[in-house]
Amino acid sequence: MTEQASGLLMVLTGNGKGKTTSAIGQAIRAAGNGMKVCFIQFIKGGDWKSGERQVMERLADLVDFRVMGRGFTWKSDDPEKDRALASEAWAYATDAIASGQYRMVVLDEFTYVINYGMVDQDKVFEVLGKRPPGVHIVITGRDAPLELVDIADLVTEMREVKHPFKKGIKAQRGIEF
Ligand code: ATP
Ligand code: MG
Repeated sequence: MTEQASGLLMVLTGNGKGKTTSAIGQAIRAAGNGMKVCFIQFIKGGDWKSGERQVMERLADLVDFRVMGRGFTWKSDDPEKDRALASEAWAYATDAIASGQYRMVVLDEFTYVINYGMVDQDKVFEVLGKRPPGVHIVITGRDAPLELVDIADLVTEMREVKHPFKKGIKAQRGIEF
């Protein structure tokens, strides 16, 4: 296969488990090929040290790993603060995409940011659509909006066939975080 310069817009969505872990795998593959990666987690926040964070922070020369949310949800106690953090993270992402420093930019859980209207949607689609030619973008999260699916080059939907949560098995270190 010939190498292409064109950066892909890849969307990992659906209700089944595997979106973020797939994006991590993609980032590792790119980084292993010497492609610098910017990986931004929009929802998870604070000092929380997930397994992926601990490994990615050891790869700092290859991956710029940013945890920029504070664990916000629709039940947030401070929606204004969440919105401000989402804007800040999106500004960081916009710069990362435009900077020419990264060959891949991962926007983890970004569909929620779009769907909850935490950032200007028109602006989001403009930035994604006009990304520099060599930059791959990976977006994860449930309920990818149709407009995003429309402009994406690759969309994979994780479909839940079984999940241990359904039989009461709680999230565990090494599997969920
Ligand atoms: P992962 O990070 O393991 O790849 P994900 O990114 O696909 O999962 P998210 O929608 O971001 O999943 O949800 C994060 C958490 O929710 C994970 O701990 C995951 O195991 C759990 N989860 C994912 N799918 C389901 C499901 N169908 N039922 C219950 N919990 C789920
Ligand atoms: Mg996820």
